[in-house]
Amino acid sequence: MYDCIVVGAGFSGLCAAADLEAAGKSVLLIEARDRIGGRTEAGTLAGHTIDLGGMWLGPTQTRLAALAEKYGVETYPHPLEGRNHFMLKGVSGRSQGEAYEKTYGILGQLELLRLIKKMDALTASVPAESPWTAPDAETLDTMTLASWCDRNVRGERVRALVDMLCRSVLCAEPGQVSMLFWLFYLKSGGGLETLISMGEGGAQNFLFHGGVHQIGQRIADDLKSEIKLGEPVIAIEQQEDSVRVRTAKDSYEARKLIVALPPGLIDRIRFDPELPHTKRGLIQRQPMGMCIKVWIAYEKPFWRDAGSNALILDDTQAFTPIFDATPPGCDVGILAGFFDALPAAEWSDRDPEDRKKQAIDAIVAALGDEGKNPIDYAERDWSAERWSQGCYGGYMGPGTLTMFGKALREPVGNIHWAGTESATVWTGYIEGAIQSGRRSAEEVVSIL
Ligand code: FAD
Repeated sequence: MYDCIVVGAGFSGLCAAADLEAAGKSVLLIEARDRIGGRTEAGTLAGHTIDLGGMWLGPTQTRLAALAEKYGVETYPHPLEGRNHFMLKGVSGRSQGEAYEKTYGILGQLELLRLIKKMDALTASVPAESPWTAPDAETLDTMTLASWCDRNVRGERVRALVDMLCRSVLCAEPGQVSMLFWLFYLKSGGGLETLISMGEGGAQNFLFHGGVHQIGQRIADDLKSEIKLGEPVIAIEQQEDSVRVRTAKDSYEARKLIVALPPGLIDRIRFDPELPHTKRGLIQRQPMGMCIKVWIAYEKPFWRDAGSNALILDDTQAFTPIFDATPPGCDVGILAGFFDALPAAEWSDRDPEDRKKQAIDAIVAALGDEGKNPIDYAERDWSAERWSQGCYGGYMGPGTLTMFGKALREPVGNIHWAGTESATVWTGYIEGAIQSGRRSAEEVVSIL
């Protein structure tokens, strides 16, 4: 009989296990995959280690930054020097500002400013701990981001920009996302500007030398508790004072259980007794975003010689945005980019060679013919991953937060809930995974 079993060895489950262990509790960590890390994963490109999943750090993500420091994993600012490549509605600009100016004109820019102000004010009114209690929560949760824009955005091009931001932030289409959820997501990360920015203060401000996945591995290496890899949990049976967890190989018992999984994967486990209808309703209504992450290596970062920073945002391309992810001192040039939301759905079942060609074509369109000759290519379609089902996280359509939001963190008997989707800070991000894992461990320790 363990004090606590933790299901899922992503950042959330790893941090929960570490805190339980530090509090002197006996812990068993069970993971479906034959590796730890979940939505963070190491890959290789042109002999270099890369992040196939999560990779960036923002300055307000202090828990992740502290772990990086503890384990000696250094960060560097995302390289931004040089000109950008923004193509919005067929108009290109060397910078976001220039593209806006050319694309929107003075009136369009004013509308954009008004829109940002309005969204910021609404975001401020949503409490991250209980978004369902926000003024107008009911109304905001009957709308999607798209239908809210129908009422609040006049300019077609401003609208196109919002659509692109939604795809990049949530890997979902604006017509799929509840307006209340969108505001909650922005609030948990510190607002729209923080979430979309690559520069100082932004969520994409820093990258990790050698990749963020190393931090998860170091947490796992430090754990004294047993980790069962390659054992998907298939059933959870709850008694008054204990919980039994069944995998295909064995069954284990503990006084408490922490489930640190993406919502859709909780729904695949058989619970006995069945979960309360609010919890079931919630996990059935949090689909994962769709995203294919692509890495491409070149003999050198040729774009830098041409004064470019390879930051490419082009609403005419399926493969967008694209970033320079070449670490300092690296002997090759490295780009990373995404097929997000609808383009990810459209390109997911295609031949990988067609996808590669599409990605290269998007690079050539912005950076010129030197983009035609990559030396290596890697990709990960996260929707095709059995134990993730998509990324970056789960999102909610209309009616979910107000009807079922209360069940996000509410324990069910001896079962406690973690995972980035249950975070109140940086939900959807690694920081949120850490926060939720620690919060769930605290709950368990305080009861035990
Ligand atoms: P997960 O990492 O999903 O962990 C859940 C674990 O549970 C997995 O290991 C899974 O295998 C396991 N599991 C599932 N079902 C079972 C079962 N039945 N039994 C046992 N185990 C099971 N975040 C950032 O902060 N910055 C970024 O730059 C960033 N970019 C991203 C880019 C991509 C392409 C992706 C995929 C994600 C990105 N994210 C980013 C999001 C971030 O990676 C996640 O929010 C975070 O890793 C989630 O951690 P978690 O522990 O909550 O869940």
